[in-house]
Amino acid sequence: MSRIFLSPAACLLASALPPAEPPSALQTNIPEAAYLLASLLFIFGLKRLSSPRTARSGNLVAAVGMALALGGTFLLPEMGNFGWILLAFCIGAVPGWLLAKRVKMTAMPQMVSLFNGMGGACAMFISLGEITKWEGAPGGKPSVFAVVVYAIPMLLGVVLGGISFTGSLVAFGKLQGLVSEKPLRWPAQKLINAGVVLCILAAAIGVGSFSTRTAAVIILLALALLLGVLQVLPIGGADMPVVISVLNSCTGLAAAVTGFAMQNMSMIIAGTLVGAAGSLLTVLMCKAMNRSLAKVIFGSFGGAVQGQAAAGQSDKTLREIAAAECAVMMGYARKVIIVPGYGLAVAQAQHLVHELDELLDKRGVEVKYAIHPVAGRMPGHMNVLLAEADVPYPKLLDMEEINPEFEQADVALIIGANDVVNPAARTEPSSPIYGMPILNADKAKNIIVIKRGRGTGFAGIENNLFYHPNTRMLFGDAKKALQELTTEVKAL
Ligand code: NAP
Repeated sequence: MSRIFLSPAACLLASALPPAEPPSALQTNIPEAAYLLASLLFIFGLKRLSSPRTARSGNLVAAVGMALALGGTFLLPEMGNFGWILLAFCIGAVPGWLLAKRVKMTAMPQMVSLFNGMGGACAMFISLGEITKWEGAPGGKPSVFAVVVYAIPMLLGVVLGGISFTGSLVAFGKLQGLVSEKPLRWPAQKLINAGVVLCILAAAIGVGSFSTRTAAVIILLALALLLGVLQVLPIGGADMPVVISVLNSCTGLAAAVTGFAMQNMSMIIAGTLVGAAGSLLTVLMCKAMNRSLAKVIFGSFGGAVQGQAAAGQSDKTLREIAAAECAVMMGYARKVIIVPGYGLAVAQAQHLVHELDELLDKRGVEVKYAIHPVAGRMPGHMNVLLAEADVPYPKLLDMEEINPEFEQADVALIIGANDVVNPAARTEPSSPIYGMPILNADKAKNIIVIKRGRGTGFAGIENNLFYHPNTRMLFGDAKKALQELTTEVKAL
């Protein structure tokens, strides 16, 4: 027994063991086996998420992994109070299931943010629970070993989980319209944030001493929660998808360090996967928007553009086209490239696009879709939307693949897309989107744009492509415009 009391971490493990009867093989081996299998399923599931074709089954595989990990946890020797656990499970699962079922595609970013916040809260509460147990350990100063393998991961779990929890809630509020979407600024913002970080460090040191522990934990928790709010409030609503991705990696890291403190292999692996996926996604999104992460976190974007590039200030004229004329152009074309954007998602017009595609296909027109990596408001937005309408995957081509094909296209049909086809990204160094890779829709022989009016996109800037000599505007809500267009194509 004396070896067990060498470190507080070992004390925790010792306290977790039931004193009287030793656990049965079922209680010790099955949870470990379940964790191992769950970890493998997480990795396998994530691999399948890398392609739209296998993503649905990948999600299912990972969910089975999570169910296994939960089941294994129920069998742990220290588990009890099944009634309470089941009640907590239902409180989380029932609203989660209902929300996920009912959410609209356009509201998916805030949904992800809410779920991510719950993940952060879980890691935070688990770490807090571990700290509470640690308080019962005998002795004065913790050993270096205990600090490294137990205390630091546990404290990081509270801090990262807390930041992710409140940060995600603010992001949810901004996207849901509950909190102002505008970037909120106040004096000495960065200085205040740096001060909060320093206070967190001081409180973390305070947790190391038994005499100051309770007060230090409360201060640490409060400061972490505050930092999440302070970090996200100054960022504009339009940048929230990137922020959510950053917070997602933060949640993953919080879960991984908490798993490390608890020596739970499944949590370490799942947390690391989430953390790595979130970080990679953040990098990819920043690259596709040609903006550094620092600019997203510390600079405001979207709606803040001034001058002649700003929303609807151009006095140039737009050339309109009627649906009937549009139908003739497309119905007698050899090749049509459809460029879907955020407006298509807002209008929920994906099924009509597919119908139009099938009508053109029957007439012998080659139809392809050009998918920009940041079209819409979340990564993969267009892929998910079009997959929902049963558009065959081989027709969806990534930017690099489709860009050389625009020159051979008779018509580029842009539906509710704006920034992702804005040539200013290539030609205007002063533009906020300068350097962002775009779809070469301007190279097509004819360009038809479906949008409601002169509204700008996410970046809040004018798009000269709409004034291009080969461009025609089919004004209207995407759903209504596509309905008219399909009717006219049918009549050809
Ligand atoms: P966009 O630049 O935001 O433009 C959307 C266009 O759709 C608007 O100009 C709007 O014009 C039109 N629209 C809105 N509702 C419509 C409706 N019901 N029917 C028809 N048109 C409608 O969209 P995007 O080209 O897809 O570009 C995405 C932008 O989001 C990029 O700037 C990207 O950097 C940013 N972003 C993307 C992600 C991501 O992960 N995908 C994340 C963060 C930021 P009207 O008002 O005139 O109709």
